[in-house]
Amino acid sequence: MLVLGIETSCDETAVAIVKDGTKIVSNLVYSQVAIHRPYGGVVPEIASRKHIETILPLLEQALHQKNIKLSEIDVIAVTQGPGLVGALLVGICIAKAIAFALNKPLVAINHLEAHLMAIFLEQKPLFPFIGLVVSGGHTNLYLAKDFLEIKQLGQTLDDAAGEAFDKVAHMLGLPYPGGISIEKLAKEGSPNIKFPRPLLNKNNYHFSFSGLKTAVANYLRHHPSFCKADVAASFQQAVVDTLVTKAVQAVKDHLLPRLVVAGGVAANQCLRKKLLAISQKEDIKVYFPSPALCTDNAAMVAALGYHHFKAHNIADFDFDAISRYPVCPFHQKKS
Ligand code: ATP
Ligand code: MG
Ligand code: FE
Repeated sequence: MLVLGIETSCDETAVAIVKDGTKIVSNLVYSQVAIHRPYGGVVPEIASRKHIETILPLLEQALHQKNIKLSEIDVIAVTQGPGLVGALLVGICIAKAIAFALNKPLVAINHLEAHLMAIFLEQKPLFPFIGLVVSGGHTNLYLAKDFLEIKQLGQTLDDAAGEAFDKVAHMLGLPYPGGISIEKLAKEGSPNIKFPRPLLNKNNYHFSFSGLKTAVANYLRHHPSFCKADVAASFQQAVVDTLVTKAVQAVKDHLLPRLVVAGGVAANQCLRKKLLAISQKEDIKVYFPSPALCTDNAAMVAALGYHHFKAHNIADFDFDAISRYPVCPFHQKKS
């Protein structure tokens, strides 16, 4: 079964075709990073306009590349949210138009759940598992019992980890997006500055990164001759320590020896190394998608779309974009 995935929630226009929920047939991502870089972040109006220009040529390329006709697609899966409303609507309108014109089933996908399930394009973790989605707009801990049964355990109370990377990079005069810039610079520095590890003494699964960001800003103000690389390394270490401690706590509390880490920040090598070291010591199996499947892509949307289709979660044509989901303890299977 071929599922066409469409993703336009932020500044990546992405189209993918996935076979049977696991095998990538084509996976194209057009990143707008260079367009938004001069502004230091994503400009929503520019993102929507660029999606409109890019989505159809990208779709044609995805089909043409593998000699697949649109009529051979069985299901269309599209990101419904969370994300920028104008950007989401571009993907949703295209998906609805294709589904309507070809009389094919349409499924609406939660972008964060898709990030979490991207791992199934490469590996096969057993359910249930603890999931950490750590991205540009979110830092969420989940208990995943099945593809469609995902309970949120905790979230950031303010900034997301990726957002903190982007903002601290900006303070250091590093280019957007900040995650990769900080990771690169951190390799030349040492984590010798003691920045706070927020909420670690609290008995919950929540995160907070805005205080850490302020601590970095204060440090820069009080140390005019600061070493950029040391600040980058110390900030990165504080984020990684916080993410790892909370995720491992959730694993231990739930007696589940499996952790899936996903989202753009999951591409960070320092986070990957630290979790892999702990996994060997603590007998926890840690799963990371390869870096290209950590950041935004449509293959993850198609992969999860397959399971929604199998569960008869077919969307009506009147569904709207959802910019922010209310925290909902369980996204249950519809029967
Ligand atoms: P969300 O998924 O929450 O809607 P998003 O889709 O914009 O947000 P992603 O594409 O999943 O986020 O990830 C982008 C974020 O990941 C950016 O904040 C970026 O700085 C961060 N990031 C990317 N690579 C790395 C890295 N190697 N180290 C740390 N952070 C990184
Ligand atoms: Mg992006
Ligand atoms: Fe994302």
